[in-house]
Amino acid sequence: MHEFRFDPVKLPETTDALRQEVRDFVAEQVAQGRFDPRLNSWSSRDVEFSKACGERGYIGMCWPKQYGGHERSALERYVVVEELLALGAPVGAHWVSDRQSGHQILRHGSERAHQLILPKICAGECFFSIGMSEPDSGSDLAAVRTRANKVEGGWKISGSKVWTSGAHEAHYLIALARTAPLEDDRHAGMTQFIVDTSHPGFSTRPIYNLYGGHDFNEVIFDDYFVEDDMVLGGVGSGWKMVTGELAFERSGPDRFMSTFQLLLESLRQVGTEPNPQAATEIGRLVAHLATLRRMSTSIAGQLDRGANPAVEAALVKDIGTTFEREVPEVFRRLTGVEPSLGHSSDYAENLGLTILRSPSFTLRGGTREILRGMIARGLGLR
Ligand SMILES: Cc1cc2nc3c(=O)[nH]c(=O)nc-3n(C[C@H](O)[C@H](O)[C@H](O)COP(=O)(O)OP(=O)(O)OC[C@H]3O[C@@H](n4cnc5c(N)ncnc54)[C@H](O)[C@@H]3O)c2cc1C
Repeated sequence: MHEFRFDPVKLPETTDALRQEVRDFVAEQVAQGRFDPRLNSWSSRDVEFSKACGERGYIGMCWPKQYGGHERSALERYVVVEELLALGAPVGAHWVSDRQSGHQILRHGSERAHQLILPKICAGECFFSIGMSEPDSGSDLAAVRTRANKVEGGWKISGSKVWTSGAHEAHYLIALARTAPLEDDRHAGMTQFIVDTSHPGFSTRPIYNLYGGHDFNEVIFDDYFVEDDMVLGGVGSGWKMVTGELAFERSGPDRFMSTFQLLLESLRQVGTEPNPQAATEIGRLVAHLATLRRMSTSIAGQLDRGANPAVEAALVKDIGTTFEREVPEVFRRLTGVEPSLGHSSDYAENLGLTILRSPSFTLRGGTREILRGMIARGLGLR
């Protein structure tokens, strides 16, 4: 049985000053009218803001200086990221590059990939997407059908991906493809490739979400050529790469802070003298938030030590996204405000948008059922 560990971590002494630095930076941006924090979450994109984050050293914080990074600890990065989310900063454009893709390239990419890509990510000028899901392969990634065939000097990829967030604005994506036929070991024969979206053979088609926005896409590979040195982690290691990446994807504060701005706005709506029912519900939510934060920082500490806390990360994502989905429902009840879209006060609109967004929280990055399956296996129940 897996031993679940959420040992407490002590944030480094440098973090108080760092937190204040981020607060001053965001306050400056808001004062200049650059964005309205109330409507943002980590998927809100603003290319100029990402560039400003790059200039401040807030991207690639833990990576070597030689590739544009800043050699800070994972916990220092955690504090910056947490602060940006709490302040409603539009970090969406660089989020995937910083959270997982750049890290994967650093650990498993070729020297050419390091030099070509990492400095641009750190500058806030290079954005990535995740090319895992396919029309018949979402939860069951081992069923991917996108195929890469060996050719002189590289590989030719054909097939399609779906729900690929931000692919229409990304410079690269990391695509999972089958490089050997599906055999008894379903997890063998898959490989990850770094795909330059400006090259021929790559195209996207929009998929509109529940509120009519264009966040994700269908991605089509039509005999797309990728060089040998853009293979990530070696041919056939795709499954290992994907599962390693998911611990980063699932454990951060973004997995319980998607509705944090709404929580703050809702507390303002309720006011400083909530009735006993409201006080109880708010107390419960805040206690959950504090617990999630403690669990998530503990995982950041484990990742810093080179561990792969995939099962702990699954637990954070499952509980965290359940919390995110609860926030609009609880406050809809407590405030009596009817959610709307585009015709009412900011709060009603924020509530309406969040309610339409919230089903995706427990789907993206792995569904509840899949996460609970992993947790059950960790507990020795399956
Ligand atoms: C907003 C959003 C953004 C996304 N962005 C990306 C992205 O950038 N890149 C990317 O690659 N993907 C992305 N996805 C896709 C996401 O990862 C998949 O939707 C998710 O993994 C589920 O896969 P699926 O949609 O194929 O559903 P399915 O796998 O078909 O699942 C359908 C239902 O069956 C359940 N189910 C499936 N298998 C099992 C099982 N073994 N046991 C119990 N229940 C099971 C699932 O939990 C789910 O409820 C995004 C999704 C959303 C909603």
